[in-house]
Amino acid sequence: MYQDELLNWGVAQLRDLPWRRTRDPWAVLVSEVMLQQTQVERVIPRWLALLEAFPTPAACAAAPLGDVLRLWQGLGYPRRARNLHAAAQSITELGGFPTSLDGLLALAGVGAYTARAVLAFAFEADAAVVDTNIARVFARFAGERLTAKQVQAAADAALPHGEAWAWNQCLMDLGAVLCRPLGPRCDECPLRPGCAWNGGRDERVDPAIGSAGVSGRQSRFEGSDRQGRGRLIKALGLAPVHGGDLSVAMGWPGQYERATRVAATLVADRLVVRAADVYRLP
Ligand code: SF4
Repeated sequence: MYQDELLNWGVAQLRDLPWRRTRDPWAVLVSEVMLQQTQVERVIPRWLALLEAFPTPAACAAAPLGDVLRLWQGLGYPRRARNLHAAAQSITELGGFPTSLDGLLALAGVGAYTARAVLAFAFEADAAVVDTNIARVFARFAGERLTAKQVQAAADAALPHGEAWAWNQCLMDLGAVLCRPLGPRCDECPLRPGCAWNGGRDERVDPAIGSAGVSGRQSRFEGSDRQGRGRLIKALGLAPVHGGDLSVAMGWPGQYERATRVAATLVADRLVVRAADVYRLP
């Protein structure tokens, strides 16, 4: 791949995001977990607030999960908060942050992407990350759908030695800014000379569709169970809720069965505790 061209393009336009100014592995891990399913603009204030409350894994580990969930409000997918809390406990028990891929993968909620992101963005180690933007770039560049193994192998092969931090950031930005899901801006792309798909000019179907690691559209949030789960956690951040009030807390007045069913999923996920028909944060 065109290392110099991509770095020249990317470094000049990298956005100044707060987690790009730190190499603290805990701060990087928190940012990566938050960014998994939430947009940058919503993550920034939550990232700052969580790190202010819990500047170290030990501080997070010592707090009840309910405190982490309160700080998580507005980010969605609260299982991530539970996993982050569990990861903080593991790191504290280990007496330090894991620095190997296997050590990071052993942490709750840390998968192939997040583990490599911590290696590259905190430790500046030679690790190639593959998020949905990067997976899309590699599939299009190759001109074919790739398996998870193929896309990771392509990312590993393209990584310039000693440049993991900038390379991964630039590649992610290229996927977000130029190699967009719809309407890629190939005319401005530094990879264009070697790109097999080149914006569909060879009339093949977009190879990124159905390729490993490239996510589809997120399901609708408005009116979803996910929205109800978020509302209940928010209400519980203020005070416990009686079973009879669940449907109101979730914004579905009168839908008792649905509210009870969705509340049960939060209990099963250990994000909410139920005792004598009263629900509260753990
Ligand atoms: S040339 Fe177009 S399709 Fe190829 S990597 Fe660049 S933006 Fe994506």
